[in-house]
Amino acid sequence: MRTPIIAGNWKMNTSVNEAVELVKRMLQVDRVKGVKKIICPPFVSLVPVKNLIENSSIELGAQNMYFEEKGAMTGEISPIMLNELCRYVILGHSERRQYFAETDEMINKKVKTAIRFNLVPILCVGETLKEKETEKTRDVVSRQVSRGLEGINATDSLVIAYEPIWAIGTGKSASVAEATNTISLIRATIEKMWSREKAETISILYGGSTNKQNITEFVRQDEIDGALVGGASLKADEFVDMVKQTAEIKNKA
Ligand code: PEP
Repeated sequence: MRTPIIAGNWKMNTSVNEAVELVKRMLQVDRVKGVKKIICPPFVSLVPVKNLIENSSIELGAQNMYFEEKGAMTGEISPIMLNELCRYVILGHSERRQYFAETDEMINKKVKTAIRFNLVPILCVGETLKEKETEKTRDVVSRQVSRGLEGINATDSLVIAYEPIWAIGTGKSASVAEATNTISLIRATIEKMWSREKAETISILYGGSTNKQNITEFVRQDEIDGALVGGASLKADEFVDMVKQTAEIKNKA
């Protein structure tokens, strides 16, 4: 039985003070049971946010990580720095792939390192608009999953987010059928690498222009274990509402 997840990716938004104010307004989700609530603020806000959520059920994640433990890597953040602070780390987000030239090989190293240091990777995969239009979604996504997890033994310490790039920040989410089909493909890809039993334990989220108006369509599907939320996670009321709606639907099921 997979626990549903609503994870907020704040990206490069919020000053430290703004992050603190935002999380204070989110603390009311503490009371919502049956859903994991994860927030991923910018690195500089991890400590103050951690202090605020310490006695709550809200969990913390980072938005990226380097794959070495330490050394001459100016400006990078290592798993050793993160695992004192948070449990999750988003890896392979399409913005990292697109703007910072992250490859499947680099992302695979990051996933391996994160697991070695007891961090749970939230591995993001998804196709571009061009790939969708040329019917390459299945090839692209299954390749990103198998390369991202190459050489990794079956683990429960993993979350995957299917995030079609054309749906991120555009206000144009995938259809429920598109999200469900691709998520089933991701699960089948993991099953081929590991086993059916293990594939059934991995939470797979949808991400791309989700909000309080459309979240229920997605989480009503058994295959979709929740959402990785960008823009809407910067509004406390909206994030809280999405968590509550998810709890209501998934706890009923
Ligand atoms: C994201 O960046 O992970 C994301 C899903 O963004 P948005 O919800 O704003 O589309």
